[in-house]
Amino acid sequence: MEPRTSRRRVLSLASGLAVAAAASPVAASRAAAAAPARAGGPGPLLIRDVRVFDGLRPRGRGSVLVVDGLIAAVGDVPASPRHRVYDGGGRTLLPGLIDCHVHAFEGSAADALRFGVTTELEMFGDPAGLPEARRRRRSTAPARRADLWSAGVGVTVPGGHPLQPGWDFPRVTADTDIDRFVADRVAEGSDFVKVILENGPPPPRPPLPTLTGDQLRRVIAAAHRHGRRAVVHTEKLELSLAAVRAGADGLAHVFWDVEGGPDGVAEIRRAGAFVIPTLSVVDWGAGAKDLLADDRITPWLSPTQEYLLAQEPPDRPGRPDFLGIGSANVRRLHAAGVPILAGTDAPVRANANGVSMLVELGHLVRAGLSPSAALAAATSVPARAFGLGDRGRIAPGLRADLVLVDGDPTTDITDARAIAAVWKNGRAVDRTPPPE
Ligand SMILES: [Zn+2]
Repeated sequence: MEPRTSRRRVLSLASGLAVAAAASPVAASRAAAAAPARAGGPGPLLIRDVRVFDGLRPRGRGSVLVVDGLIAAVGDVPASPRHRVYDGGGRTLLPGLIDCHVHAFEGSAADALRFGVTTELEMFGDPAGLPEARRRRRSTAPARRADLWSAGVGVTVPGGHPLQPGWDFPRVTADTDIDRFVADRVAEGSDFVKVILENGPPPPRPPLPTLTGDQLRRVIAAAHRHGRRAVVHTEKLELSLAAVRAGADGLAHVFWDVEGGPDGVAEIRRAGAFVIPTLSVVDWGAGAKDLLADDRITPWLSPTQEYLLAQEPPDRPGRPDFLGIGSANVRRLHAAGVPILAGTDAPVRANANGVSMLVELGHLVRAGLSPSAALAAATSVPARAFGLGDRGRIAPGLRADLVLVDGDPTTDITDARAIAAVWKNGRAVDRTPPPE
């Protein structure tokens, strides 16, 4: 989905939505059935001599065969004269990354793809392009942008968060027929339902109106009746607990108001909800500054990415240490077995689509995930949580969305920044940034 969006609109989004063991080689096997619609390709591609991280764990060195946009075999794959051979030179091959919390605008999905993010999950956005996004992501035709799944219009109240999204959209009032409201979102193409539960940032900022507990339960129940997951925006522990008690499938941020005790963490675990921490949105631009000083990154940034990363988030005197508190909560949730999914909230608060995932991976490792667990949080874990059956792992039959990096990010996560190549639907991506 690519709604026409100016830089002003990007800024408006950014402010309005701002949040108050190496195993033995795998045996080669043939492509499974249940594959996406195939488009004719340029012939089989053999990516040889790569260390494979398959989305779950490191699998040792081997090759990956790509046929018609899909992974056909992994492991000891003998080269044939029919193959075009790409020599991986012992680099590490990852599944294409999935950013689980973005907001899309013109050019954002192309920016994402150039940094190895081959799939984006939009957590509130303009529904205009959703049918087209759905058509595109089912195809294995050549693509110059990441695939998109989206909540479309989120569920919030008049005067509630987000305050200035840059366009008008329907909101829930006391008179709203909630089942109808959710049915309208599904009809617009929403792949899941985003629910806003936000009663305002910490004082002295004023409180915000938000959904009542009853409305929250009814929205989530309606989403489930329509076969959609419900993902809830909360930033506070009490609201996060209210969301999971009401049946939320996932939380769009980790809570960073207070450190959660064992009871709260256990309750989220029992509820079976996943959490998309988005720690990159509470580092107050530190991760962005780090990217702008990294020569593995800067040659590939588009002007829009540079512009977004250079934003100085407005200071909030006396604000709590959101990053420290949020990271402590991620550590506890992960230790308790709550699925952790990587997401950036780009383009909010000095995050840019695609490249900021490289910041979030670092935050997740500092919060206590192993590098492999952080990479899983950006690949196989979200694929499972959101039911994306054709991607998220390097396995026969899945879409050939792949990222090749120098070094070994399963031991040093920052190696994920050293991107050597990206393939989308089995085709190499031109990483040259657009002029403007
Ligand atoms: Zn967001």
